[in-house]
Amino acid sequence: MKRYSIGIIKGDGIGPEIVDEAIKVLDAVSVTQGFIISYHEMLLGGAAIDATGVPMPDDTLNGVQKCDSVLFGAIGGPKWDNLERHLRPESGLLGLRKAMGTFANLRPALVYDELVNASSLKADVVKGVDIMVVRELTGGIYFGQPRAIEKDRAYNTMVYTRDEVIRIAKVAFEIAQKRNKRVCSVDKANVLEVSQFWREIVIEVAKDYPDVELTHMYVDNAAMQLIRYPKQFDVILTSNIFGDILSDAASMLSGSIGLLPSASIGSGVGLYEPIHGSAPDIAGQGIANPLATISSASMMLRYALGEVVAADKIDEAIRRALKEGYRTNDIGSYDAKEICSCSDMGDIIANYASK
Ligand code: NAD
Repeated sequence: MKRYSIGIIKGDGIGPEIVDEAIKVLDAVSVTQGFIISYHEMLLGGAAIDATGVPMPDDTLNGVQKCDSVLFGAIGGPKWDNLERHLRPESGLLGLRKAMGTFANLRPALVYDELVNASSLKADVVKGVDIMVVRELTGGIYFGQPRAIEKDRAYNTMVYTRDEVIRIAKVAFEIAQKRNKRVCSVDKANVLEVSQFWREIVIEVAKDYPDVELTHMYVDNAAMQLIRYPKQFDVILTSNIFGDILSDAASMLSGSIGLLPSASIGSGVGLYEPIHGSAPDIAGQGIANPLATISSASMMLRYALGEVVAADKIDEAIRRALKEGYRTNDIGSYDAKEICSCSDMGDIIANYASK
């Protein structure tokens, strides 16, 4: 029987609640699909600061490297907001991603038919939307040097190397090959040299993927097109800062931030996590939507472990639960038959996924 070692980082706020539900679902599918998962819990963010004084303890950094993959909840909260930047929970997560070399962030924006009315856009605009944003995660302006705040000015630097663009472009083209074979590379090549460079390299990489259609779009237009006619997109390939903004905008097409998963992958161990934060406003109330984290567990099975049937079972279970009218609070106003707690929703998905 196959055995997998999964790192578990629950984090802060609703993190522990939603990760527990994902584990429940993983346990259910592993039994029916015939594999064994061992879980290894590690600390990050506020929970790590409270226990060890730092947001990313060495035990976590070393521990994740020994796992096949890592499932992560969310970190942060007002309790730690006044710490210095390098001691805050967020710096633990940025540091962990960097240390794990997870240079590609995959963020699907999927609209479930049952929830078309949950979107702030018209149902006919969002029905059928299925976009994958591939965001470069460890380069660009968030990491570029030099950076400084001086007395009368401040600056950051947007840098990309050839290798960084090649490897993220390859991820996008390979994903497009498994989807609808279209990549739209988003940049600001009319203004930024770094974007001109990005575009030239993406065109070179595209030559190795003749079955995939490549288009280019300026980021300001892409922001507009995502709202105007989102169905035109299949895979969006973009840099760190543009992807940060566009993937959040794309996520709202689906209606709730509580629905969408993400994967951060590289050459080694990957990190699978919901796109939302630790939601301190609802933490501990048992009302968080666990579906984004459960979907992240499904992405982990699909992309990291190759357990495609188990991943399909989870995705089908989510669709079935939504179709039958089960809703957590955040999506409770849209054709709900029953409002579920976080734990009830986990039970329902685990039950359906194990059929
Ligand atoms: P957030 O995503 O935590 O919450 C935004 C809103 O969405 C809140 O009203 C929240 O209740 C709701 N929400 C989020 N997830 C939900 C879920 N699963 N079910 C139901 N409702 C949900 O963003 P925020 O409020 O800006 O940030 C809160 C904290 O999370 C901050 O400390 C921030 O730094 C941190 N954060 C962490 C991550 C991460 O760990 N990857 C990402 C973003 C923000």
